[in-house]
Amino acid sequence: MTTPDVTTGGAAAAGGTARPAPAAAGFTPPLRLDLVGERPYGAPQLAVPVRLNTNENPYPPPPQVAAAMADEIRRIAAGLNRYPDREAAVLRADLAEYLAATEHVSLDVARIWAANGSNEVFHQLLLAFGGPGRSALSFAPTYSMYPQYCRDTFTRYATEPRGADFSVDTEAACAAVRRHRPTVTFLAAPNNPTGTAVPLDTVAHLASAAAESGGLLVVDEAYAEFRRPGTTSALTLLDDFPNLVVTRTMSKAFAAAGVRLGYLAAHPAVVDALRIVRLPYHLSTVTQTVARVALAHAAELLAQVAEIRAERDATVAWLRESGFTAAESDANFVLFGIFADAHRVWQELVDAGVLIRETGPDGWLRVSIGTPEEMRAFRTALAAAPAAGRRVRRTDGAPHQEGG
Ligand code: PMP
Repeated sequence: MTTPDVTTGGAAAAGGTARPAPAAAGFTPPLRLDLVGERPYGAPQLAVPVRLNTNENPYPPPPQVAAAMADEIRRIAAGLNRYPDREAAVLRADLAEYLAATEHVSLDVARIWAANGSNEVFHQLLLAFGGPGRSALSFAPTYSMYPQYCRDTFTRYATEPRGADFSVDTEAACAAVRRHRPTVTFLAAPNNPTGTAVPLDTVAHLASAAAESGGLLVVDEAYAEFRRPGTTSALTLLDDFPNLVVTRTMSKAFAAAGVRLGYLAAHPAVVDALRIVRLPYHLSTVTQTVARVALAHAAELLAQVAEIRAERDATVAWLRESGFTAAESDANFVLFGIFADAHRVWQELVDAGVLIRETGPDGWLRVSIGTPEEMRAFRTALAAAPAAGRRVRRTDGAPHQEGG
């Protein structure tokens, strides 16, 4: 078999047109003008011993669950010449079953949708419901990706400030929804980076306010499994508000961040809209298969959630006893400070082998809850960090940045 000459100007040698000379260095691709100067999203992925910066579950899948995943991948590998089930129907049914078992909600599979992480779910929501001339609203400080999905879909992004304790004031939030008339309102509950839970009553009022102008309320429950007793999931309101969307992920409590599986529960018409904008076969057979194995082993994968919650509460208590300010948390991370130079503290912790996250309002840092050993390393490093001793008093109305 002869190989076509694609590297040495074979066409010219054969009498064809000569290949143009290589372009000079410094090539600039025709990037959209609104993206010039933008940076890719991402927490630093540094090779340090203790990584507490991306809110993962620190416990790997138990060996029997990893083995079950490997067995299933081996079984389906023989059929990978075919595209996956475009509708991910069996996986969506499993997700509905999981929500029924854990949140006592009965949801038909037509009301469940899944994608590559809840990131992709949000992206699809804005592709379908955002766009030029439309806006999205959220309550800052909050998840740093919301503005990026908006940027990418030409949706205007607006924020309203949270209170000094990072809570969402129901009346002010509803007034903001009525003023902005967004097609999508994002409400992270519990919120990232603050860990703040949202009472169900606030969700209901916001859904109602959003409905007045035909908008959706998207409640981002990425951290729902970590919430303390007393806050009910927004899933329980789905039957009352057709414009309510509740998103979840397997990346956090479920200890499956590497699987990339996020999902939502909503009115079937919302799901149908997402089916229009999703890329063909967006969810690979491997992803669907591994996610189903994870769901079949939910109890084992979620086994450490109670321990993570206890470790979180102990971390908040220790921070406060040590003279730091720590926000109330219903998630698997804690926002704390308030430092004169938070970047310096972050760097001193990195130097001690502990990676946390620079995010949130000025002067604050966020630590994800790891294993007891990892948290011990965190406490030791923080107690020894010179810059951690230089703190400032809490000032209400401090500038609110986004959280990642
Ligand atoms: N929502 C919030 C509030 C988050 O913090 C994150 C992850 N940091 C996500 C959604 C997205 O998670 P994933 O795409 O892994 O499901």
